[in-house]
Parts: sequence; C-alpha cells; structure tokens
Amino acid sequence: VQRTPVDHDKSIEAIRTFLQSKDCLSILPVSSKMIVFDTRLQVIKALNALVQNGVVSAPLWSSVESKFAGMLTISDLVHLMQYYYATTSSYEGAADDVEQLTLGNLRDIETAIEVLPPPLHSIHPMRPLLEACHILMTSHARRLPLIDHDDRTDVEVVLSVLTQYRVLKFIAMNCKETLGLQKTLLELNIGTYASNSDTSLEPLAVATMDTTVFDVVHQFSAKGISAVPIVDEEGAVINLYETVDVITLVRLGSYQSLDLTISSALAQRSAEFPGVITCSPKETLANVFSLIAKRRVHRLVMVEDEDKTLPNGQIRRKGALVGIVALSDILKHVIGFKDISIN
Ligand code: ATP
Repeated sequence: VQRTPVDHDKSIEAIRTFLQSKDCLSILPVSSKMIVFDTRLQVIKALNALVQNGVVSAPLWSSVESKFAGMLTISDLVHLMQYYYATTSSYEGAADDVEQLTLGNLRDIETAIEVLPPPLHSIHPMRPLLEACHILMTSHARRLPLIDHDDRTDVEVVLSVLTQYRVLKFIAMNCKETLGLQKTLLELNIGTYASNSDTSLEPLAVATMDTTVFDVVHQFSAKGISAVPIVDEEGAVINLYETVDVITLVRLGSYQSLDLTISSALAQRSAEFPGVITCSPKETLANVFSLIAKRRVHRLVMVEDEDKTLPNGQIRRKGALVGIVALSDILKHVIGFKDISIN
C-alpha cells in the first residue's frame, strides 16, 4: 500500500492554526519561578542572581514608576564589555566602576556606544501564541514578557517570559504535524550559509582558536548574533563561542579577558557546557523538531556530511562548516515571518 506523502506546506499551515488557537498562558508550566530585577539593583548582583538561578535573562522593573522596564539580556553585558574596553584606561578602574553600576545605568552605556536599548515589547497572556511569535521575531531581545494588568491596584504584573525555545519546544511536543515537515533545511533556506563560490565562509562570522575574545565580542555586537563557530585551518568546526560565555568574564571582573585568545577563554569555560550540536544541511525540519523535543537546543551548526567539490574546484571536507541555524530562523519559517526590519 502506498501512503500519500505528507505535504510540508499543509503541515506548516496546521501548525500556524494550532498557534492561533492557543493563548500565551497555555505554554507556561503550571508552576515556575520568576526572577524580576529592580532597575536600582547593581549589575554584578543581578549577574550573580542570573547564574545562581540558571537563567540568562530577566525582566526589569521600575519601582519608581511601578512598571515593566525592559529585559536584561546578555546583549547588555556584551555592550558593557565593549564600553569599558573602549573607554577605560585601567582594568582595575573598570572593575570598580562595575561594582557601582546599577541596571538602570545600562541605558546610559547603550546611548554612549550607540546601540538600541532593550525593547519594551510585551503581550497580554490571553493573546494568541501566533501573535506572540510575530512580536517575538520583531524584538531584538528574542524574549517577550507576558504582562497582565491588575485593575484593582492599577499595576502591571509580569507573569512570565516567552522565549523562542519555549515556543518551538511546545510545538515539538504538541503538534504531530511536525512529522510532515519533510523538506530539508537547505531546500527551505533555513539558516545562514557559507558562500559556495569561495572558501572565505562569508557571510558567516567565524573565529579560530587564535582570534581574540575582543574580536568575537565585537562580531556579536556588530552583527547582532549570539554565537560564532570556531574552525580549524581546514574549516572543520571545533567549537562554538557564545554570548553566554561572556557572563563568566564579566562576573569575574576579567576585563583583560577581552585580550585573551578564544583558546584560553574556552579553557575557563564551565564543565557544564553541553557541547556543539551539529547537523547536515540535508536534515529535515521534522528531525530538527524531534531533536528540539529531546534536547535543549540553542542553535544548530551545519557541517558537510561528505567531502564536497565547490564550483571553483576546491574541496570542502566532511565536517567542515556549512552554516548556522538559529532558533529564530526556524520560528520565522514556521510562522511565515518576513523581516521588515527592527534589529
Ligand atoms: P538568540 O540570541 O536568542 O539565539 P537568534 O535565534 O536570532 O537569537 P542569533 O544567533 O542571534 O540567534 O541569529 C540571528 C541571525 O543571524 C540568524 O538568521 C542566524 O542564522 C544568523 N547567524 C547566527 N550566527 C551567525 C554567524 N556566526 N554568522 C553569520 N550569521 C549568523
């Protein structure tokens, strides 16, 4: 008996209908802990609290105005490091300054280095999940707080924060239609790919073990990305340096760490690093969803699954970097989001 092939586009449509039928609240666990920081708190204390609670971002609360004041994310730390590297003459001075710095002061740093402040997007918990996904994709924090309003006290209440991973995992666990997503990442053009015409790997941002942390941090900020694959001379992926790795540096007050090479910085990384998740560009989206259901995926690094001859005759070896798939690339495809820009 021949089975009718499952249609990719129909499966995507069914997933969108599902996301439209659910409200944001339905994605949340029955009970969870919520960390919210007052904007008057010192940055260092906030960082320690993030690490102790195993989270990498938190909503900010202005107790003066009794309202939500944006999100603290790792991008803020990347900006902080860039600012101190550019403006201070001594690392000790920078360390002393950071001791005094409050979360509210981070806005001045963004103004000084001319980057966008954290977005103030939010959504009511009873709005459809599909709407939240669209707002999530326009927010450069890639995080969307669910905010309710207490009519009695006239105060905003931050209930939780939606992340791309939470949404994708919810889809992976609840939509059997993901099994129908049989087209490959490459066919769907999901992700960012190295050019096939030369060996420069453009437009991918990459680094080697000898690149300095400063250069990588600069790429995070300039390109608005949160990870850079580390490759060897042959282009094989040997590691990944992520924005979360910057937390360790800022916490230890090691501003001189920016001068370190990636190789030395990786040596300080905690043993908890889960490793780089790689896949072939020929992986189906269905398989990516089944991976998301099982593992805490932050991004996928695509590598060649066999030696490949490029149009210019050069050979790209098995294991060489081909591209990177961010969670936003997957979510954009699923909801049919077209970039019209805010980043
Ligand atoms: P998050 O910061 O929450 O992981 P995200 O899912 O958007 O957000 P990013 O790493 O910021 O992930 O990726 C943003 C865009 O940049 C994506 O389209 C992704 O394909 C692309 N991208 C990610 N890393 C690189 C890189 N090293 N070089 C070039 N493009 C990249």
